[in-house]
Amino acid sequence: MSLLDPLLHRARRGCETMAYPDGPAPALPDRHGGALRLDMAKCTEGCTACLPVCPTEAITRAPPSAPARLDLGRCLFCSACITACPTGAITHTQDHRQAVRRREDLVLGAGAGEELRLAAALDERLRRLFGRSLRLRQVSAGGCNACESDVNVLNTIGWDLSRFGIQFVASPRHADGLLITGPVSQGMELALRKTWDAVPAPKLVIAVGACAISGGPFVGHPEVKGGADTLVPVDLYIPGCPPHPLTILDGLLRLLGRLEAGDAARPSNTSVQSVRPDGPRVSPTQQG
Ligand code: SF4
Ligand code: SF4
Repeated sequence: MSLLDPLLHRARRGCETMAYPDGPAPALPDRHGGALRLDMAKCTEGCTACLPVCPTEAITRAPPSAPARLDLGRCLFCSACITACPTGAITHTQDHRQAVRRREDLVLGAGAGEELRLAAALDERLRRLFGRSLRLRQVSAGGCNACESDVNVLNTIGWDLSRFGIQFVASPRHADGLLITGPVSQGMELALRKTWDAVPAPKLVIAVGACAISGGPFVGHPEVKGGADTLVPVDLYIPGCPPHPLTILDGLLRLLGRLEAGDAARPSNTSVQSVRPDGPRVSPTQQG
């Protein structure tokens, strides 16, 4: 091999980074159905067929005469409820866009709408701060490594997250925020608190995956806290188990106001993130 071979190889391959978001989004794999939709008109009153098949109790109906409630923050996207539903009320949308700003925007049905409410961008001041340069410290708080792997995919040449000015850093002192995966195991609680404290304000928190949002498959287990927002205020929730890299990238770009208006056609909220009653009261994005 000559010294020129690597250069010739690169020239032959050309640019391998996808055009998205300037070009079309890459297609989801066949077995990935995207976000779920709950058609309340088809959801028969009193039916509970989908409830027992859900591994995380993401679907509830209490009392049975009340409308069904589907929490995508708990959902593992296993499709068991879609198969179990006799009327086709629950369907995949094939839509990769799933990130939201508020926890309650992940809830479908029971008066909360039939589709999730996509995330709005940060306010102008924070977009000026983070819009072109966002440094994140990743905290793996007891996850299975699948969410972490799909976050890592964004750093590959095909996705090239750094072209948006988003990079991961080793020290929370150098970070603008945290990207948290995992349900926050008891062993990671102190580490997460210390890492959060070390990030200078104003700071962002992004919860990636069902575990980091609700505990995911570990929901209710005494050894886990049940999601990041039990400890720190969360600014962006990205559901999935794990979320597809495209879903994670969409959420990050949506938060930074980097997506074209046409890709934000769905209803979205504009309020700053609130937190669970037992969590911190002030969003980090409101500090500093
Ligand atoms: S797709 Fe989600 S809501 Fe439906 S059974 Fe699986 S985990 Fe539960
Ligand atoms: S949400 Fe699913 S994929 Fe992500 S860490 Fe938890 S179990 Fe693993």
